[in-house]
Amino acid sequence: MESRISAELFDRARAIVPGGVNSPVRAFQAVGGTPRFMVRGEGCRMYDADGNGYVDLVCSWGPLILGHAHPAVIEAVTATAVKGTSFGTPTPGEVELAEEIVSRTPVEQVRLVNSGTEATMTAIRLARGFTGRTRIVKFAGCYHGHVDALLASAGSGVATLGLPDTPGVTGASAADTIVLPYNDVEKVEEAFAEHGPSIAAIITEAAPGNMGAVAPRNGFNAALARIAHANGALLIVDEVMTGFRVSREGWHGLDPVDADLYTYGKVMGGGMPAAAFGGRAEIMGRLAPAGPVYQAGTLSGNPLACAAGLATLRHCTPEVYGLLDATALTIGKMVTEALAAAGVPHRLSTAGSMFSVFFTDAEVTNFAEAKTQNVAAFKAFFHAMLDRGVYLPPSAFEAWFVSAALDAEAVEVIAGALPHAASAAAAAFEGTS
Ligand SMILES: *Cc1c(COP(=O)(O)O)cnc(C)c1O
Repeated sequence: MESRISAELFDRARAIVPGGVNSPVRAFQAVGGTPRFMVRGEGCRMYDADGNGYVDLVCSWGPLILGHAHPAVIEAVTATAVKGTSFGTPTPGEVELAEEIVSRTPVEQVRLVNSGTEATMTAIRLARGFTGRTRIVKFAGCYHGHVDALLASAGSGVATLGLPDTPGVTGASAADTIVLPYNDVEKVEEAFAEHGPSIAAIITEAAPGNMGAVAPRNGFNAALARIAHANGALLIVDEVMTGFRVSREGWHGLDPVDADLYTYGKVMGGGMPAAAFGGRAEIMGRLAPAGPVYQAGTLSGNPLACAAGLATLRHCTPEVYGLLDATALTIGKMVTEALAAAGVPHRLSTAGSMFSVFFTDAEVTNFAEAKTQNVAAFKAFFHAMLDRGVYLPPSAFEAWFVSAALDAEAVEVIAGALPHAASAAAAAFEGTS
């Protein structure tokens, strides 16, 4: 597969952009080779600058739940754009998007921001402002954006690059973060026994997708709510990835627990920069201008982003969610069968319609277990799929994303590529064990 133009673009980019990309995992550092520069998408396919087509199993890391360039989304954005791109005043679209989110979720009030990072950063500030406490509990392998205090053991991006720690985050902001192994209630109890009165909040991914997809054990999220509340702390459930992807409500639709703050992003922006956080009015009312906790944004609630998000959410019907579940099941099964046939040790790990494949025999319930996988096998698997026109996440520690636009022809392309990729993974396993 020719990738000359992508290679040229990457060279130009590297001269003037650190690492040649504007978000690290895009650089293919974990898998090697030339990152493909995409120029066009349609439905479940995208096309690179050299004219190669790919079945897309990344979907912009989740937002494109309806596929690329969905006609309703493009029409909504276009119709909005001709009337102006930003006003720095309130606009009707923000009210509609906020109402849509509130109607689907347990939150009473919501504030729109531009990225998931902003949403979790502000949710933490608000939790600290509300409780008057400083410490935050997070779980190893959970990623909540590149918020200073949350960049301890932050999963995929950092795992992918093998950065031991992040320079630039002060000891003071890291010291207020307690990092615990995922899915281990006892460790949470111990942390609260020791530090309870100073813990403002627990933050957790509703179901982690950033160490690969790893579901919470039955009752894990409920235990977090119980422990937090027994100690006067808040529970922040990060639904940036799961929100409006795994069900109409997000993970809350599959596993309802009584959290205090929720964060959303990805799907709710429909491929444009929009995210949100929300919760009970009692807590959200502490935000400026209603209350003293400051938060703001020049482009927050941007009309184009609201239009894209609203059109996307309105097209996420029960049929769409049924289709996503069925498609995820089909592809997961195909991958498992191909790897089993080639004798490749693997685990299919699912969390609703999110899934990933770990190249290990071990059970994966947390980040330490995820790291037991054979990344060389993934790398070989990834490139064999890419060469045959299937675009997977370029890291072994990411969830795979399907869209409702994935059609039978695309499933055939995946089926045709899998035996080759499974053999490549088997050969890589041989070479490294
Ligand atoms: C993607 C993600 C974020 C960060 O969102 P950005 O828009 O990339 O800042 C936060 N939390 C979770 C769970 C995510 O998957």
